[in-house]
Amino acid sequence: MEIKFEKREQLKEKPDQKNLAFGKYMTDYMFVCDWHEGQGWHDARIVPEGPIPMEPSCMTLHYAQETFEGLKAYRRDDGKIQLFRPEMNAKRMQNSNARLCMPEFPVEDFVQAVRELVKVEQDWVPSEPNTSLYIRPFCFATEASLGVHQAVAYKFIIICCPVGAYYATGLNPVKIMVEDELVRAVRGGTGFTKCGGNYAASILGQVKAEKLGYDQVLWLDGETRTYVEEVGSMNIMFKIDGEIYTAPIEGTVLPGVTRDSMITLLRDWGYKVNETHLAVTDLMKAGHDGRLEEVFGTGTAAVISPVGELRYKDDVVAINDEKTGELTQKLYDTLTGIQWGKLEDKFGWTQVID
Ligand SMILES: *Cc1c(COP(=O)(O)O)cnc(C)c1O
Repeated sequence: MEIKFEKREQLKEKPDQKNLAFGKYMTDYMFVCDWHEGQGWHDARIVPEGPIPMEPSCMTLHYAQETFEGLKAYRRDDGKIQLFRPEMNAKRMQNSNARLCMPEFPVEDFVQAVRELVKVEQDWVPSEPNTSLYIRPFCFATEASLGVHQAVAYKFIIICCPVGAYYATGLNPVKIMVEDELVRAVRGGTGFTKCGGNYAASILGQVKAEKLGYDQVLWLDGETRTYVEEVGSMNIMFKIDGEIYTAPIEGTVLPGVTRDSMITLLRDWGYKVNETHLAVTDLMKAGHDGRLEEVFGTGTAAVISPVGELRYKDDVVAINDEKTGELTQKLYDTLTGIQWGKLEDKFGWTQVID
């Protein structure tokens, strides 16, 4: 793929690396590529980051044919920049697009676009501990029409923003509320895709949880509201009697890159990982019986999020005295060690940008 470059007249001022919020400061450039029926993907370009003109009848605004991804570029101690398993994001976006009847962007072009954009923006990749450049590829229908159909025009765009450590003071256990009424996904739906629509449907649950003093929602399966699935923008794992439990990839949970990486590390360390349906009542019972040893969410943004408290209806359990568990900490240290190039990458997950 040939990528054209349009230079910016004036570069933006870079934010203070010690005060990077999440997703606030966009870099100077973005990657853009168009798709039209009969023409396919065309006009790949890196251009100044800025507003994109759009018709009020743009189909995305009405019918939400939109998908996205999230990955990071990491600054190593030797100054080099590396990506973590970007082809998994590329493949996942293809799966998301296929489900939403959107054209699939080729995996190798996706990786090339990310690499070239990060190279252009290398001065934006922060070097303070635990900071990184968050990369947000997204794809949406651009056709101006109110008829409901598969759109005939799309854009694929990648924007980037430097982000700080997710937890300013190290790992911080969160409180999670199990949502027993609203659902996020059902089999046959879009639960396995990273699409804006899934998030639109989940915000009400998040608002409910926050009103009750909880940080995040744990979703149950949409059909029976019996089995635990995932949390907000993270997959979730439970350590019970020394074994790990997490929901299987059967169309309703997002196949997280972090989830897959954690499972690989855990199995490599000899843990039994059960990708299986776990009833929330069994989970709460394990908590009360003292067999629920650790709970943690996994996702690119936070890497790992220890869970200190779970609430289901009126039942509340504290996990590991609301402290970060030993295994949770070890997983965090190992994965971030690989991502920032401090530990050996024996699975070949990282790739340097040069
Ligand atoms: C992105 C996302 C995750 C985590 O996926 P990673 O690839 O690990 O970042 C989990 N659940 C949902 C719903 C997500 O959107």
